[in-house]
Amino acid sequence: MSSMYDLDLKKVIKRIKDINASVIGLQFPEGLKIHASKVAEQLEAETGVTVIISGDPCFGACDTVDRKMADFVDILIHYGHTALPLNYPVPVMFIEAYSKVEVIESLEESLKLLQEYHKVALATTTQHLHLLNDVKQFLEENGKEVVVESGSSTRLGQVLGCNFSSIKNIDAQAYLYLGSGNFHPLGIKLFTHKPVVIADPYRGEARDIEKFADRILRIRFARITKAREAKKWGILVSSKEGQYRMKLARKIKENLENDGKEALLIMMENISPDLLLPFMDLDAFVVTACPRIAIDDSQMYKKPLLTPQELEIVLDKREWDDYQLDEIYFGEE
Ligand code: SF4
Repeated sequence: MSSMYDLDLKKVIKRIKDINASVIGLQFPEGLKIHASKVAEQLEAETGVTVIISGDPCFGACDTVDRKMADFVDILIHYGHTALPLNYPVPVMFIEAYSKVEVIESLEESLKLLQEYHKVALATTTQHLHLLNDVKQFLEENGKEVVVESGSSTRLGQVLGCNFSSIKNIDAQAYLYLGSGNFHPLGIKLFTHKPVVIADPYRGEARDIEKFADRILRIRFARITKAREAKKWGILVSSKEGQYRMKLARKIKENLENDGKEALLIMMENISPDLLLPFMDLDAFVVTACPRIAIDDSQMYKKPLLTPQELEIVLDKREWDDYQLDEIYFGEE
């Protein structure tokens, strides 16, 4: 099977045989799900197991399907993410699915944007963790001093959309983020206020996050301003284990009510514009689930969706100058 990702089937097959599994669960994030049926076919053919593929959307290790499958699988094979410190009722095997994309062109491009900076910190997501050493070496050969740190629940240099602990408190002049997309570098920018350069291997280019960050901040400012008029609030709580923050949600309800607003708790597994349609009598929402939802999909929602930190600005408990993305530290309620 040819793929842009290392699906590590040998390791999975060995584990299935080692534990003598008869039924296994298989879970992929959205970007890798197109490989699910081929992987399942191959595992069934080579080991005789019965595979159950999870067809629901999955965006992180916060959302493993272990609880739902606990009664009928011997093990869950979860692709594309690293383990989080959660309690899993069935064994879960995490396969990182490292990307095989070439990175050198984007790295060379990034040097032009990093010219002025000597001390550079590195960050990336799960798909490229295996390349961090090579990237470090490349930068060092080009005269840079390189810093890489690990964070709470994350590997060396790894950032999650909800956990930027590995890039905080680093003494560096600029950051180099290896990967696609703008959300993670946006987070690095907002937490550090330092220059952030993206080496995007999928496009073979490097770019600065500055303009994107300005655009997002303008959108967030507009949403927060609109939300100041809201009287009735919905507080969204996720039922996904790694996104479940009921304590925080209840605290938010209390804060809103103390401020003279109405506030209702709404628990849901997935959050989407369609699923919120029955609640359009509410004026605004606070999302205690995945921190990316309010920021990434903002344009799709008719009513303002805010993060808990943005609500603090609405309630005058935080200054706009102290704007921060939301984070989840796993195991917190
Ligand atoms: Fe990713 Fe969101 Fe889950 Fe965090 S909560 S791991 S950002 S999907």
